Amino acid sequence: MTNGTLTCSAQSCVHNMTGLCSANVIHVHGAGAHSSEYTNCGTFAEKGLKNTVTHMLNMNIPGEVRQLFNSTEVQMTPKIKCDAIKCRYNDNRDCHANFVQIQGPGAVTSSNTECQTFIE
Ligand code: SF4
Repeated sequence: MTNGTLTCSAQSCVHNMTGLCSANVIHVHGAGAHSSEYTNCGTFAEKGLKNTVTHMLNMNIPGEVRQLFNSTEVQMTPKIKCDAIKCRYNDNRDCHANFVQIQGPGAVTSSNTECQTFIE
């Protein structure tokens, strides 16, 4: 799985902290995808008390702590499981890209998000 950097513009997600992802693991969907628009982040959950509680177990606490003490580098980045097997960064459903950008400004569901880094 990736040890690269992930940034995410889905600010409405419960895991989004100033454009970074505080989840331990995310699951990108897109089996059969030939382009970014057919991928999405299945871990997206809209901010709110219910989702904060139900997604607590997927929090990257050590990453959050490291990030708190380092504002110049990305320290908090999730592991990525990914179904988009046609992507060149996909190796056995693990993502090996050094940098991943998830898009989803104004997203209210997973389907409003996509992996911009996808390349067939
Ligand atoms: S870069 Fe490719 S393998 Fe990595 S999350 Fe995006 S679609 Fe999946």
